[in-house]
Amino acid sequence: MHFANWGNFPTVDTLSYNQLSIAELASFIRDNHGFIARGNGRSYGDASLNQHSILNLSKVKFNKHGMVYNSADRELIINSGCALTDVLNNYFPEHVIFPVLPGTKKISIGGAIAADIHGKDHHINGTLSKHISCIDLMTASGEMITVTPEKNRDLFWATCGGQGLTGLIISATIKMLKTESSVLRQRVTVCESLDKLIAATLEQNNSQYCASWIDLSATRTHGRGIVFSGRFASSAEVMEQGNQFLEKKYCNSRLSVPCYCTSKLFNQTTVKAFNSLYYYLNKRKNNPFASINGFFFPLDAVNNWNRLYGHKGFVQYQFVVPQKEVLQKIVNVIKKEKLYSTLGVLKIFGKQPKHYGNISFPMEGYSLAMDFKLSHGLFKNLDYLDEIVADAGGHVYLAKDSRMKASTFRRMYGKAVDEFLEVKAKYDPNGKFCSLLSKRLKLNVV
Ligand SMILES: Cc1cc2nc3c(=O)[nH]c(=O)nc-3n(C[C@H](O)[C@H](O)[C@H](O)COP(=O)(O)OP(=O)(O)OC[C@H]3O[C@@H](n4cnc5c(N)ncnc54)[C@H](O)[C@@H]3O)c2cc1C
Repeated sequence: MHFANWGNFPTVDTLSYNQLSIAELASFIRDNHGFIARGNGRSYGDASLNQHSILNLSKVKFNKHGMVYNSADRELIINSGCALTDVLNNYFPEHVIFPVLPGTKKISIGGAIAADIHGKDHHINGTLSKHISCIDLMTASGEMITVTPEKNRDLFWATCGGQGLTGLIISATIKMLKTESSVLRQRVTVCESLDKLIAATLEQNNSQYCASWIDLSATRTHGRGIVFSGRFASSAEVMEQGNQFLEKKYCNSRLSVPCYCTSKLFNQTTVKAFNSLYYYLNKRKNNPFASINGFFFPLDAVNNWNRLYGHKGFVQYQFVVPQKEVLQKIVNVIKKEKLYSTLGVLKIFGKQPKHYGNISFPMEGYSLAMDFKLSHGLFKNLDYLDEIVADAGGHVYLAKDSRMKASTFRRMYGKAVDEFLEVKAKYDPNGKFCSLLSKRLKLNVV
């Protein structure tokens, strides 16, 4: 079968194994070599791709609903194949919410753990691993091991953010958050320059949620943008507003891109026009309330929007650097090289604890995510940005990556890579779990 992740690059022909029971998964793992788990394929690059075989866990639910919620201790026990959409549909009407909400709800729980996802509240709530009390993991021996921040802790931290390379996440116990309402009280701040955007994002980073859209295609006002910050509204605030934002379902996208568009759709002119339209539409918005879909998941409104980039696909480049000056330098390089990102998101991360074996992406500092259509010369430019990020002691996000060099990755993640490989060698000595990403970045044991 032909597989690609969200960026449609790279693609690979591989064998996919679906609907295997726990016993079948264990015997597959014991008898085979060279496979990787796949959830919903919402990583952008090659993290869940492999030339040999993919264990597709997105449909696997090991009990009827795939999840059980205990309201007394706010813990959700959930199978890795369940989608975040299902968690929202089941519990958000009761104002119980998944502790970390990324930019799409169409991911599996296994994928969320393997990427140790972050959301707009990283500065307050950290990454998903902070909210996980236990993971049931099937390792390379076919054995199920329970890992927690205390028990088999090296394997726990290598699994969170480990991109599926330590074993199959079968289920996990996750502490949920309680909100007072299902509506967000938001603040939208329009900024006409990069400096103003950074200053306003910093200033509003004391709100529970905060992230900024950045326009990296405007010529005169390059780096202008809009800060979206907010928190869940109190029940009193919602009573005042009525229930116009109460949604029954959290999974319905009304629009869809039916087929792959021509790769010429995004060019200098259309990208500028698209960004300007977004800027001016939001400039006129002054609604202090937002729905959960509008605030967290605006991209999910259009199914298969990745097809807008055409068959050749696109790359999402997300980095984090500790220094504001380095962020500004990179934005200047993007302008000088006319890289024209279709979409840019700026987020200021809070402190991120270090754990032995953990290769999660976030660190305290400035994170920028940008979408680039695949084009001649793009990788050379991104290699150059990698060097700036590595020199600054920053990271590029593996969940979005499909092209970084192993040596640059090593420079960025440093000692954490050696620790990760030690843990991998202990639990997967023959490197059974491997992906295109692990081969490219030399994250394989053998
Ligand atoms: C529009 C969009 C917005 C996004 N926004 C954010 C964001 O705000 N923050 C953020 O952190 N990320 C974000 N992401 C990235 C996304 O959250 C991660 O890539 C996530 O891993 C995707 O989950 P998936 O189920 O689709 O996994 P896949 O893409 O199928 O797999 C991703 C990785 O998880 C591993 N994996 C999957 N299931 C299992 C399992 N059961 N056991 C072991 N390993 C497994 C795979 O091997 C692979 O390494 C975004 C992605 C998109 C498309």
